[in-house]
Amino acid sequence: MLDVTKIRADFPILSREVNGKPLVYLDNAATSQTPQQVIDVIVDYYSNYNANIHRGVHALSQEATDKYEQARQKIQKHFNIAQAHEVIFTSGTTHGINLVANGFTSLLKKGDELLVSAMEHHSNIVPWQMLCERTGAILRVIPMSREGELLMDAYHELLSDKTKLVFCNHISNALGTINPIEEIIDAAHQFGAVVLVDGAQAAPHIKADMQALDVDFYTVSAHKLCGPTGVGILYGKSDWLTKLPPYQGGGEMIAEVTFEKTTYADLPHKFEAGTPNICGGIAFGAALDYLNAIGLEEIAAYESELLKYATEQLLQIDGLKIYGTAARKTSVISFNIEGIHPYDIGTILDKLGIAVRTGHHCAQPIMDFYKIPGTVRASFSFYNTKEEVDTLVEAIRRAKAMLS
Ligand SMILES: *Cc1c(COP(=O)(O)O)cnc(C)c1O
Repeated sequence: MLDVTKIRADFPILSREVNGKPLVYLDNAATSQTPQQVIDVIVDYYSNYNANIHRGVHALSQEATDKYEQARQKIQKHFNIAQAHEVIFTSGTTHGINLVANGFTSLLKKGDELLVSAMEHHSNIVPWQMLCERTGAILRVIPMSREGELLMDAYHELLSDKTKLVFCNHISNALGTINPIEEIIDAAHQFGAVVLVDGAQAAPHIKADMQALDVDFYTVSAHKLCGPTGVGILYGKSDWLTKLPPYQGGGEMIAEVTFEKTTYADLPHKFEAGTPNICGGIAFGAALDYLNAIGLEEIAAYESELLKYATEQLLQIDGLKIYGTAARKTSVISFNIEGIHPYDIGTILDKLGIAVRTGHHCAQPIMDFYKIPGTVRASFSFYNTKEEVDTLVEAIRRAKAMLS
């Protein structure tokens, strides 16, 4: 089992107070907190070897380039990616999805079909709608059940020779559902369709194996797994990354530029225009080191215990309803209390030092499905404790008494 007291000591922010109360941070699905080990890497970069990469002959530039490329290799190894150049550094999941959606503009035609799951984050819906507008392709929705599980029979029926792309999150940020992406990928491939999996919510809990999954594209944001904001990766199969045109033009992504004709750099640089988030990339690698030292399986086991405990405790509150009760889910609990607006609960919890998210969680179609304006979402990480769950439950009881 995890030594949570020791782990908590790694996170300076966890010992601060909010509104005079000890911080209880339960908004991990929006962004995770950063351990000192990662903060130290960021400080070291700016204190000792801040320089632009891939261009300088000088020592600092070499050092920064080496560390940045080492981070790429760490990421490659972590996700069992065949080749380092299949790891494209991005600013995060949103950027990765837009890069792919943009690239498919020239590869689709009118009447082609794209399948999207009913439980996607807006960042895995809107770029595809924009792609459909550009190409005349049609977006179809894989429906879900009241429990928040995809209806796989319906998915299999939607698939046809017209299906060109399928996108789905590995884990839903709003419901916590772990989706059967193995089945989704295999079935899509039988029709020659390309699959993009949004791994933003999964990466902190599951060590996804790109080669075993045989997925075509997979996106991750570092800030959801104890790394900094503004950096992430897009994994893409080499074949597809070679076929897709570049997303942005600029420095770093070219082989040769003249006013008559420009040729593009090899992978991964073709997709990495401009000066990247160098420090962020290096810190992303450090965040993976941190998580792997604890062990993702240990983390997942502990979090699932927290989920079970929190679910049991919360359900003892009269009128509390949980949205997302899939058989396979991670430590995300979206809920409402009958007759009370989620925002009002969130505001009172904040006064008590508890950080939760309220609203639609960038997944409005899910809220429409349940016919609710939003939910309160408590999302737990491996540095949270059962005592914090108790504090949350007690605070909700207080909020309820005040509001009803
Ligand atoms: C957070 C999240 C995103 C968006 O990630 P960004 O870092 O904001 O680009 C997309 N999908 C899911 C499932 C998420 O949890």
